[in-house]
Amino acid sequence: MSLNQDSKCRGCGRRILWVVTSSGVRHPLDAVAPVFQLQRRKLANGDEFVEWARAPDAYVSHFVTCPKRDQFRKPTPKEART
Ligand SMILES: [Zn+2]
Repeated sequence: MSLNQDSKCRGCGRRILWVVTSSGVRHPLDAVAPVFQLQRRKLANGDEFVEWARAPDAYVSHFVTCPKRDQFRKPTPKEART
């Protein structure tokens, strides 16, 4: 996936990043999204533990956070028939 252009969402006006995934699909991401992940750490004595840490290279799909996401959603085949 490569980071692409920085723009604004047509629905809510928030800043988003357009990216192209490895399968060639364009996808909007939140430009600023604090994302946390579990990381496994090892102490000097060999003991392991897990902790929550910020993931600076992780982004959240804007399709999940956009308050206007329904206006971009394509109808499912079932909805299109009705
Ligand atoms: Zn939006």
